[in-house]
Amino acid sequence: MKEKGHNKRGEDELDLRLQSRPEEHRKEERRKEERRKEESADRKSRSVRQQKQTEPLRDLDQELKSLHKREAHRDKDRRARREQIRKEREEARLKKKTDKELVRVTYLFVTLFLVMIGYLVYFNVVKSKDIINSPYNVRQDLMAGRVVRGKILDSTGNVLAKTVVNEDGSESRVYPYGETYAHVIGYTDKGKAGLELAQNFNMLTSNAFFLEKIVKEMQDEKNIGDNIVTTLNTELQQVAEDALGNNKGAVVVMEPSTGKILAMVSKPGFDPNKVAQNWDQLNSSSDSVLYNRATMGQYAPGSTFKIVSALEYLRENEDPDSFTHDCQGEISADGTTIHCFNNAVHGQETLKDAMANSCNTAFSSIGLSLDKAKWKSTADKLLFNSKLPSPLPYKSSKFALEKNSDSGKTMMTAIGQGDTLVSPYHMALITSAIANGGILMKPYLVDEITNYTGQSVKKYMPEKYGELMTSQEAAKLSEYMQAVVEYGTGKSLSGESYSVAGKTGTAEVSMDKKMVHSWFVGYSNVENPDIAVSVIVENADTDRITGKGVAKKIFNAYYY
Ligand SMILES: [Zn+2]
Repeated sequence: MKEKGHNKRGEDELDLRLQSRPEEHRKEERRKEERRKEESADRKSRSVRQQKQTEPLRDLDQELKSLHKREAHRDKDRRARREQIRKEREEARLKKKTDKELVRVTYLFVTLFLVMIGYLVYFNVVKSKDIINSPYNVRQDLMAGRVVRGKILDSTGNVLAKTVVNEDGSESRVYPYGETYAHVIGYTDKGKAGLELAQNFNMLTSNAFFLEKIVKEMQDEKNIGDNIVTTLNTELQQVAEDALGNNKGAVVVMEPSTGKILAMVSKPGFDPNKVAQNWDQLNSSSDSVLYNRATMGQYAPGSTFKIVSALEYLRENEDPDSFTHDCQGEISADGTTIHCFNNAVHGQETLKDAMANSCNTAFSSIGLSLDKAKWKSTADKLLFNSKLPSPLPYKSSKFALEKNSDSGKTMMTAIGQGDTLVSPYHMALITSAIANGGILMKPYLVDEITNYTGQSVKKYMPEKYGELMTSQEAAKLSEYMQAVVEYGTGKSLSGESYSVAGKTGTAEVSMDKKMVHSWFVGYSNVENPDIAVSVIVENADTDRITGKGVAKKIFNAYYY
């Protein structure tokens, strides 16, 4: 029933709707039509609007396109420019690199050039002398072919060596003093030695007047070489040679204030005029005749070394005058016993007394008290184990005490035995330095080079070599060395018009003590020293000859 009722009401509603439909429909149709019109108009206006909007868009698009185009161009430009810059940079870099290389090469060439110039200068100024001085150098023969070898003179003009031109044009070297100057002047046959070697270049150089040289060159004549004026004093040389007599040994005499070497003798000698004919004999001599013992001899310094030990004692002790020693004639340590010379017993001594007496036990005791390292450094400062300033070939001296050396060696070293070795020349240098207030002047043998007419070519002046000790130390050693002459082992040198400070030495060379080397080193005119003398007489018969005896003859010759 309910359904029916419902249906009925539905039918009624439908009817109503159907009844009103045509009216509604028309209205609806009209509305639709209006809407369509509106939409159409709207569409139209929109289309117009759109059309109106599209035109500028098209422009924009074109603009954009052209912009893109331009942008692309610009990009291309930019790329090109970048490429260009890169290329330029690369070129600049390459150029810079090339420039750098150029600079480098330039520098290299400049350096090479300078080195070459330097070498040429060095060669001509320094090295050529050495090379020309070499006895095996060809250029020297060439020079000798153009120049007559110059002379060697002593300090007063006496001829020590000259070249004589024989009638057949051959040349002979002549040594007027024969043996006297054999080692220091040397020889020119069978190689060269002495000053003949050291001054070879200067004697084969002619500083004659240049027109004369040109004329002689044109006439194919030899020019005359320069002369060597030495510092040598023939009187002292002859006295020293005579004083040594037939003994082996050597003497060196120096001027402490200048470094001039006044005399240098080595024995046994040889005749430099006959070197060629006696060559085999000279060369094989068991006495080493050709050997210059003055500079090449290696001797135990004996008691002359007490000077060095005393110097070290001064350096290690503020008040050396307070030193006392009671000499009982012998001293022992570590199984080694040292005796005083001739079994002397010196009793109570100061350091000065110990020096004057040349007391072995006092100096052994001093040696044991010294700092070995400092002692060695003092010895080195005095040119042991070192090069020596020397115008002639020499052998270096040796001081071999080590930190751990035993007491025996230490005592031996303090009194100049042990392993210490020295040349007479080196002892002359040390003595000269003491005489000269601690300053060693550079030793020299050539005073002047002159041309053959005597005109000066080069003059050598005294030069300071170095300070071997302070002036206070030199003064103290001088005081001790004066005591040696005043009341000690050098007393035989006292009582003259000249004063002497010195030190004797007796170096044992054989176990039985029969063979001794007799030394003396010292200087005269103590307040203002004139000459320093160093003497060694090998295997001396001390009743007949001693070092101090030879020295006395030299001092006498100098002053009387
Ligand atoms: Zn003694």
